[in-house]
Amino acid sequence: MHDLVIRDGVVVDGTGRTAFQADLAIDGGTIVAVGRVDERGHREITADGAIVAPGWVDIHTHYDGQVTWDGLLAPSSAHGVTTAVMGNCGVGFAPARTGDDDRAGLIELMEGVEDIPGAALAEGLPWDWETFPDYLNALDRRSRTIDIGAQLPHASLRAYVMGHERGGDHEAEPTDAELAMMHEVAIDALEAGALGFASSRTVNHRSRSGKLIGSVTATERELAAIGSALGETGRGVFQFASDFDDVDAEFDLISSLARRYRRPVSVSLAQHDRDPDRWRRVLTRIEQAAAEGIVAKGQVCSRAIGLMLSQEGTMNPFEFCPSYAALASLAVPERARRMRDPQTKQQILSEYGAETDRVRRRRMVGFTKMFVLGDPPDYEQPAERSVANLAAARGVEAKELLYDALADGDGRGMVYYAFLNYTDFNLDTVHTMMSSDHTLFGLSDGGAHVGTVCDASFPTYNLVHWVRDRSRGGRLGLEFVVRKQCRDNARYIGLLDRGVIGPGYKADLNVIDLDGMRLHPPRFAHDLPAGGRRLLQDVSGYLYTVQTGQVTFEAGEPTGAMPGTLVRGPQPEPDQGR
Ligand SMILES: [Zn+2]
Repeated sequence: MHDLVIRDGVVVDGTGRTAFQADLAIDGGTIVAVGRVDERGHREITADGAIVAPGWVDIHTHYDGQVTWDGLLAPSSAHGVTTAVMGNCGVGFAPARTGDDDRAGLIELMEGVEDIPGAALAEGLPWDWETFPDYLNALDRRSRTIDIGAQLPHASLRAYVMGHERGGDHEAEPTDAELAMMHEVAIDALEAGALGFASSRTVNHRSRSGKLIGSVTATERELAAIGSALGETGRGVFQFASDFDDVDAEFDLISSLARRYRRPVSVSLAQHDRDPDRWRRVLTRIEQAAAEGIVAKGQVCSRAIGLMLSQEGTMNPFEFCPSYAALASLAVPERARRMRDPQTKQQILSEYGAETDRVRRRRMVGFTKMFVLGDPPDYEQPAERSVANLAAARGVEAKELLYDALADGDGRGMVYYAFLNYTDFNLDTVHTMMSSDHTLFGLSDGGAHVGTVCDASFPTYNLVHWVRDRSRGGRLGLEFVVRKQCRDNARYIGLLDRGVIGPGYKADLNVIDLDGMRLHPPRFAHDLPAGGRRLLQDVSGYLYTVQTGQVTFEAGEPTGAMPGTLVRGPQPEPDQGR
């Protein structure tokens, strides 16, 4: 008798091979048979032609805080993710000195870089660790729905070794003694189970008060002190978020680490309007590096990187209008009702855009890249449907159309501002990025930017948009998308025990009704610690999610099972009885 048998599924096994009809048998958290299974299971699931795929492996999340207070790990867990890797972009909470200023500094950085409410972090974080190994032990003591893995974040490492003042100051150079200590701390972290080392080299990453992240201009000397720890232990990957203002110089620096220490490296890849071909130059360098035997990858998004303009989120386009601010204490539906009063509307619109503050003004422009998201949410709308063009067609000002969209109904409507990957007003560039052999599906930023996006839904979007629905250009094959999201990501991060359906692999699975799958518009929930708000995105179509052999979600609802564990370090490929 098996623990679990899934019968009559269309198995998309994560290797890229063509889907096939099969049963699956699972014992003790491991897949033991794929094919025809005659033996019964203690539990049986009839897939009845639904897709059976490995659980998604999300290598780019920011659950570093949330994992310490929340076992559910929504929204990623509800979107079929069974392994989430955090510590990305070099921000996190370990190692951390015990001083209040030190802790506050890490929170302020996470709030600024990743838009996670500082009050929620301050209330939620238990801080029952100091070193990185302590942090992993603290994570190990808690149970959760999904597996998690942690990378050593550069900003935390700097603050720990150099003190939070100097560590957070990108102009401060570590001393020789500090470099030696960074090396030692990195060795300890990797030996305790860190899956990599992550760093940020982008001026977009700033603390809440606007200060650049300390790692932004880290020198080769500093990166080598840390990188050599990966070389010495033979463990871990490098992850960088970089601006690539000088593509060659920056890529030389980053790839030299991978070359010298023989460890994989990945960099974020996105298209910017001001230099729309820069990502191609980076990808070309990645391809050249790969030809030399370096494991270098670009992490890419499943759609444009956007911001949701809304009344409840971080980006409220009207918050600086005094007459709007006067309504801000009202509940959103009531606020919306008042906003529809013609006189109030006229007053607020007359105040809109009057600010002289550059940052504020920046939010007010870009109507050509704004789209009313709608239900189902449409993330690939043509230029004609932009707020600017719709307004022109109707003979109203763009700001009025934006206003009406947010004031409509219960006031919970959202306008999507597509600011990266949308230069050509379609996702063809994203299609090219996703199709490359040299990219990874990443950048979901699960758990982060909670006031502006819910890109933790990327894996779902891959299915509904790229495999099933896209009409404005090429789609992607189901087997291809599953392979990228599962086996390729798992291999890159060193977890060879998952991402494939085959005997000996971890029984992390999704049973999916692709025809009936539906991605709902994002919505705000106020369920973070201290009542903090975050964007969640509901989904239907995941019939079952199985983690380590246990059903964790059934018809979209969590079952309460918490079989997820902390993954420590690389995991070997299963011996498939050969
Ligand atoms: Zn990130």
